[in-house]
Amino acid sequence: MASLRVHNQMVDLVREVLERQLAEWESVCQCQKCFDDRVAYALNRLDPLYAASEDAAALTLERLDKDRVYTIIAVCTEALERIQDQPRHDAAASGLALYNYTENLVSTMINAVAQEMGNVCTCDTCLDQVAAHALDQLPPKYAVSHKGQQYVRLDELDHKLRNAVLTAVCSGFVAVRKRGDCSFYAAK
Ligand SMILES: [Zn+2]
Ligand SMILES: [Zn+2]
Repeated sequence: MASLRVHNQMVDLVREVLERQLAEWESVCQCQKCFDDRVAYALNRLDPLYAASEDAAALTLERLDKDRVYTIIAVCTEALERIQDQPRHDAAASGLALYNYTENLVSTMINAVAQEMGNVCTCDTCLDQVAAHALDQLPPKYAVSHKGQQYVRLDELDHKLRNAVLTAVCSGFVAVRKRGDCSFYAAK
C-alpha cells in the first residue's frame, strides 16, 4: 500500500472555526473526542481541499473566499448542535484518530491503477499529486476510529464507490501527465 503524503487543508480550516466557536459555546463538551467527532461531521459535509504540495501554500480563512468561509461556519455550527445531542465521549477514547477513509481507498488502489494504465510515473511526488487530484473529486469519509480499523478490504468495497475511486485516480494520472512537472514526462 502506497503511503501518501497528502493533506486535506479543509481539516485545518474546520479545526480553526470549531476552536473559535467552542470558546464562545461554554455549555458544550470540550473534550477531545467530541471535538474530533465534530471535525469528522463537518468534513464529511464540505468539499475537500487536497492540493499537491506546491499549491498548498498556507491557505487560511482570511485568504478563502467569503462564501466558502460562511459555508464552513454554518456546517461547524450544525456539528456543534448535533454532536451535543449524541455525545460519544464515554466510549474508550484512547488510540482514536481522525482519518479520511477515502484516503485509504485511493492509497490502496493507486499502484494497481498505475500498472493498469502503464507508462505513468510512480515516483512519490507524482503519486502524491495524483492522489490529491483524485481526493478532491471524491466524497470524503471521515471517521474517528482506531488506527487498526483503517485497513481497507477491496473485496468488501461497494462497487459504485470502487468505480468512482478508479475513475478519479485515472483522471489524476492524466492530469499529472498533462502538467508534465516530473522529468519522466518532460523527457517525452
Ligand atoms: Zn465530550
Ligand atoms: Zn514522477
